[in-house]
Amino acid sequence: AIAPPDLSAHTPVMAQYLRLKAAHEDALLFFRMGDFYELFYEDARRANALLDLTLTVRGQSAGEPVVMAGVPVHAVESYLAKFIRLGCSVAIAEQVGDVASAKGPVERQVVRVVTPGTVTDSELLDERADTLLLAAHRRRGRWGLAWLGLSSGRLGLAECGEAELPGWLARLAPAELLLAADEAQALSPAAQAACSAALTRRPPWGFDTALGHRKLCALLHVQNLAGHQAEALGLAQAAAGALLAYAEHTSGGRALAHVQDLQVEQASALIELPPSTLRNLEITQTLRGEKAPTLLSLLDRCVTGMGSRALRLWLTHPLRERTVARGRQAAIGRLIAHGPEPLREALKGISDVERCAARIALRQVRPRELAGLRSTLLALPALREALPPAGDALLDSLAAALHAEPAVLDLLQRMLAAEPPVLLREGGVIAPGFDATLDTLRGLSQNCDQFLIDLETRERARTGIPNLRVQFNKVHGFHIEVTAGQTGKVPADYQRRQTLKNAERYTTPELKAFEDQALSAQERALAREKWLWERLLDALLGSLETEDAQALGLAPIQPAPLAALGRLAQALAGLDALAALAERAATLNWCAPVFVAAPGLQIEAGRHPVVEARLAETGGGPFMPNDCRLDAKTRMLLITGPNMGGKSTYMRQVALIALLGAIGSWVPARRCQLGPLDAIHTRIGAADDLANAQSTFMLEMSEAAAILHGATDQSLVLMDEIGRGTSTRDGLALARAIARHLHERNRACTLFATHYFELTALAAHLQGLQNVHVAAAQTGEHEDIVFLHEIQPGPASRSYGVQVARLAGMPPAVLREARALLEAIDQREAAERPQIELFAAPPEAEAEPVQEVHVAPAPEPAPAALLAALAAIEPDQLSPREALAALYQLKSLQ
Ligand code: ADP
Repeated sequence: AIAPPDLSAHTPVMAQYLRLKAAHEDALLFFRMGDFYELFYEDARRANALLDLTLTVRGQSAGEPVVMAGVPVHAVESYLAKFIRLGCSVAIAEQVGDVASAKGPVERQVVRVVTPGTVTDSELLDERADTLLLAAHRRRGRWGLAWLGLSSGRLGLAECGEAELPGWLARLAPAELLLAADEAQALSPAAQAACSAALTRRPPWGFDTALGHRKLCALLHVQNLAGHQAEALGLAQAAAGALLAYAEHTSGGRALAHVQDLQVEQASALIELPPSTLRNLEITQTLRGEKAPTLLSLLDRCVTGMGSRALRLWLTHPLRERTVARGRQAAIGRLIAHGPEPLREALKGISDVERCAARIALRQVRPRELAGLRSTLLALPALREALPPAGDALLDSLAAALHAEPAVLDLLQRMLAAEPPVLLREGGVIAPGFDATLDTLRGLSQNCDQFLIDLETRERARTGIPNLRVQFNKVHGFHIEVTAGQTGKVPADYQRRQTLKNAERYTTPELKAFEDQALSAQERALAREKWLWERLLDALLGSLETEDAQALGLAPIQPAPLAALGRLAQALAGLDALAALAERAATLNWCAPVFVAAPGLQIEAGRHPVVEARLAETGGGPFMPNDCRLDAKTRMLLITGPNMGGKSTYMRQVALIALLGAIGSWVPARRCQLGPLDAIHTRIGAADDLANAQSTFMLEMSEAAAILHGATDQSLVLMDEIGRGTSTRDGLALARAIARHLHERNRACTLFATHYFELTALAAHLQGLQNVHVAAAQTGEHEDIVFLHEIQPGPASRSYGVQVARLAGMPPAVLREARALLEAIDQREAAERPQIELFAAPPEAEAEPVQEVHVAPAPEPAPAALLAALAAIEPDQLSPREALAALYQLKSLQ
């Protein structure tokens, strides 16, 4: 063991501080001194750097000046919120000893530790997102993961390889990540990039399989974890050991009674959404990290926080198996037919039952939250009324779970005051009439007023002082006040208490006795209320002692009231999320997709929901719907066309529709068929990537490599402008090889947008590839470009770069010169055909015979396309069959 540091040179208070600080090294220690929490030394400097708290130097300890910064006690919650958001943990040390009787510094203890992953205070939590604590443990290249939503009771385990870790981190999005102290550097750059969690180091010995197994079994009241499919997950159990120990530590050793279940998650059950996809599709966050506009912000018309959190979970955890999605889709249809508004209206008064259950388990719940729970339980019948008539399997099962345990409701109605205060210490929490002792004590302190009036009348008569007054004030208690001119009439039994400018204050033995009784009655009433409150929590936790139950006349509550509340919370969340999706589908005119067994997808008149909403909001004109068809025959669309033409929007809308369909939502299209889906991969460069071209190209290639390694024929792949990060020649060659690999090897459903016009010639070689382009037209004397945002078959005829530059206000001279240059280049290229070499058929070993002639339909003859296709032909390398195919291709471009 390490010898404790020598604190003898410090002042007694600083020695006490340093002892507490040593036990909470990673946290900022808020040290209570009177009306402030003080931070000292390094903590003070950190607080100064993070939140600009003013530093002061006060006195010396151990020969050094004491640097400090203070937070006023009344504002502590807002500072906690800010520190937590910055990823800091805070330990709060309160004065627990008696200030008056203490010799030396009053005793202080850390009574609460608030960390980013373990907060449960409603004020500090995001109402619409779950806060997760995640522990990760690595052994021999594999990771064990264990996570807990302390405010939701959700507990999960998983194991994965090194390469999959970033995906898990991005999907779970923990607020705090626990790593063994000796593992703190173990996160790969990709994993670090995928996770913005606050990092907390824990002792390595806490990551222990046997310990984790024991803790999990104890928590779930089981002998082993076989029933949860977790018996073999030694690595994840080790992570759970550290996770649960930490959760208990920060919640003051409370049992996590609201954790009722354990979910083992298998990546293979989920549609893979790599971190780049979550980012690029702006599902829960915009590319800039904002909350809106995103897919979630568009969908989230939930009335309750529970509903919003469920929706977020659905979106980030889409399942490959489609039974759940089918159920939701049908339920949404039913809600639309019936009108979702009555249900949404009925959900309005519903409180956050899920978080309330967690706070009951942690014994942190406040009286007013329990009152909210009570009114929610009372509102359940009305909620059931607001549902469509029975007939939909999912809605019926959710309706059945809208059930209040009668004993729980009875308990809350009998024990809890009608309108309790926010905090227990204010009193008035327990309903009158529930407990005779409490009523008597309250009676004593409340009869006070009458007693004082009576006393005043009597004393005026006895002393003959007409303006004598009996008063109470907080500092001096009860007293009799006599004005200066009348003090001569005061009887002998009056004892002087206080002299004021114009009056004297007295007490009498009778008044003193009354004061003692009244004050003690008040204190005793409050103590009795606290005791009753604790019994109320016991009862809600199903752990009320029989004796207490009998003494209080309470009926026994079924064994696990919290489990019932958990089921209720889930049903409420599900209904709210479904109602929100139904509202969206109805308002935005969406359709129910049809699931089919054949890979691919077929979208008729699809729209990008977020861009469409933005256009509607800003009056930016109508959104142009587009079709998309990908199947075994056509599995790759090569998209060309001018910048700003709508290529990215089109690709993203296809992916968003596939994702919406997968979670059971309706989709923004006229008609839609979806085949099985195992992943959505995206390689899309962000505009600001360009600032850092060198590493950007590296990133681009590693993302593309990951896709080529991972994508299957059931994956959807979006490739936007691949190869942009390097020279044109390199970029073009790589883009071509990547497209070919995706088409031939991965056989994934691919949308491939490119500004390399030369790639359009690939259609002659790759049978499953079809050229499409975003249409643009030129009008007016300047040949201004107009974007039609319409996807049309065939390659684009030209790139319109110069026209776009003109729209952007480029000086006419520059435009003229660019146009002249362009013409010269076009002529030279036509003569030299420099791209021939790039489009020679691949080397023999890789060459794959073309099975089928694919004809890309092209309504408008496009001379550039014709030239490019012609240039791509290398007669010596073609088999007779391929030559015939090439000829057909040329004809089609004519
Ligand atoms: P590209 O990727 O071809 O450069 P974008 O997809 O970024 O083009 O689209 C540019 C802009 O055009 C978008 O911000 C959007 O406002 C508009 N847009 C794109 N697609 C459509 C559409 N189908 N209907 C209407 N406007 C669209």
